[in-house]
Amino acid sequence: TDSVFSSVSTLPDDPILSLTGKFLADPRDCKVNLGVGMYLDENGVTPVLDVVREAEEAIALSHRPHTYIPQTGLPLYDRLVQELLFGKDSEVVTSKRACTVQSLGGTGALKLGCDLMYWACGLRVGAASVPTWGNHNDILERSGYTVAAYRYYDAGTHGLNFEAMCEDLKKLPAKTLVILHACCHNPTGYDLDANQWSEIIDICKHCQLVPFLDLAYQGFKAGLEEDSLAVRLFADSGLDFLVASSFSKSFNLYSERIGALTVVTHSENEALRVASHLKCCARANYSNPAAFGGRIVERVLSDPDKFAHWEKELAGMRNRILAMRQALADEMRAIGAKRDFSFVTEQAGMFSFTGLTPEQVDRLSSEFGIYAVRNGRICVCGLNRKNVAYVARSFAAVL
Ligand code: PLP
Repeated sequence: TDSVFSSVSTLPDDPILSLTGKFLADPRDCKVNLGVGMYLDENGVTPVLDVVREAEEAIALSHRPHTYIPQTGLPLYDRLVQELLFGKDSEVVTSKRACTVQSLGGTGALKLGCDLMYWACGLRVGAASVPTWGNHNDILERSGYTVAAYRYYDAGTHGLNFEAMCEDLKKLPAKTLVILHACCHNPTGYDLDANQWSEIIDICKHCQLVPFLDLAYQGFKAGLEEDSLAVRLFADSGLDFLVASSFSKSFNLYSERIGALTVVTHSENEALRVASHLKCCARANYSNPAAFGGRIVERVLSDPDKFAHWEKELAGMRNRILAMRQALADEMRAIGAKRDFSFVTEQAGMFSFTGLTPEQVDRLSSEFGIYAVRNGRICVCGLNRKNVAYVARSFAAVL
């Protein structure tokens, strides 16, 4: 008899996650992994932050029983996330018109938000930028949405195509769930400024779009408060909106799956009703979130000294990335590369869209052992003082 799986095809591996396997299998000493989506330090490792190590030890010593935590997550954690997003004394926090639930990373927050808006509010169309982090489209699709797109990046000018973005957003049907990268756009590294965000807010109001801000890199552009600019502008606008935030990057807690979904409504009463639906979404997906990552983050965010120490460590990561952007641009200039790479210093976050073609990226891996995503995205964290000159020479060779 035929197996139920006999007609199941093999899907391709995730193009980004599979790069690391190829990198590890490469025997060359000169190899460089620019494909990862994780912070790496000067030695090519993802460090454990001091504040995380201290929290891990304290939590281990507390020998707390491993009971279920609430479906919405650790209550103190949820409150601290809100304060980090909007500011302690912000009207959104004090009025209690937002609800926050702990999620399985930023990914889990996106999934919860999509489910909430589908089941509780009847939304059926979702939109993401072109290009975007590929999972946006997959999560929307698997949550039952018809997936639409809005233009964002102009390859010709190496920059944001804001006019096209606005034009496309205005064409979306009312009640479209629009995923917006709140800062450090992945993969391009180009963000909107305050005036542009205000225009987007006006369009969302006018066209009755539902904004879903994805804030996966808070602290990687300019600082914790600076990087919540978009979130705070939306909070001031009076619009209903959602935020998917994550501590994967800002705490190097990738494997602990720690993030949050925050839903901003018009009143405390609405927020409580929304929270009741989020409990159901959580239950039908995974029942309850895990506690460990939440306890680490909670411990740091709730203590001013630890918070300050974290901010310092985060600034260290941010500044190393900025220095590597500058170093790459400088090296490219110094060797007289065919293309000016100074645009790399204008992009924000972990990634840079280099404009390298898929064929050039293939040559980088086969001839030089340098691994990047075929769309030309590099993770700037893969660069360090030891390899940046080699990477620049290799880029110049394939240009
Ligand atoms: N959103 C964007 C734009 C991302 O780049 C990522 C991670 O790469 C995420 C969300 C999700 O991060 P995580 O689920 O690991 O917290």
